[in-house]
Amino acid sequence: MLSRLLNLLYPSKCPSCKGLSDVFSHSPICSSCWSKITKYTGPSCKICAKPFISMYAEICSECLKKAPPFSKVINYGLYEGVLVDAINHLKFNGLKRLVKPLSRLLLNFDFQGMDGVVPVPLSKKRLIERGFNQSLLFAQTISKEKKLPLFMDILLKVKETAPQTCLSGKERLSNLKNAFIIKGNIRNLRLLLVDDVMTTGTTVSECSKQLINAGAKEVVVLTLARVRMV
Ligand SMILES: [Zn+2]
Ligand SMILES: [Zn+2]
Repeated sequence: MLSRLLNLLYPSKCPSCKGLSDVFSHSPICSSCWSKITKYTGPSCKICAKPFISMYAEICSECLKKAPPFSKVINYGLYEGVLVDAINHLKFNGLKRLVKPLSRLLLNFDFQGMDGVVPVPLSKKRLIERGFNQSLLFAQTISKEKKLPLFMDILLKVKETAPQTCLSGKERLSNLKNAFIIKGNIRNLRLLLVDDVMTTGTTVSECSKQLINAGAKEVVVLTLARVRMV
């Protein structure tokens, strides 16, 4: 009720269908578009969750070639359509009210056996620019709802890096070299590493590597959207 009233006072256009948004809690995305955000259930790699590998393959060629430092990736949807609009409005327009409905998508997964939640960090400069770290906001909700400790200052990004999206595979790797450090004791812990979007996986791999090198027993990656790779 309040949500509808607020939306009446602050009307906005849905970026996905250009119609008027109707519910404030996930506006500007309208209810009809929001309901189109669905979990990806098609074929994907059992380790890194890369979508659209063959129906008959369990593991993608990259993971077969070299086992990643994380044990698996739990991913919600494909980085397409309304989910992209919602993530972009949160990240680039600062619409923090979208954290709640987006986090809710992640709460249906089972995180049993995990000892804590770690967000993929932003560098200091990026954090100041954006004003918040969306992965930390997701991690906070998961920590609260699933009653798991939040380790927010354990994994730090100490190097300013170029946006990964502009770089090739090899460049992505060298771009992130020495970018992350671990502060504190995570010995023998099973950690859930939270990121919003996963493209090639270089960032979560690099973070997982640091966590494992510092003594973590296992890293499971949790992401909201996986980019369709060709
Ligand atoms: Zn819409
Ligand atoms: Zn894989």
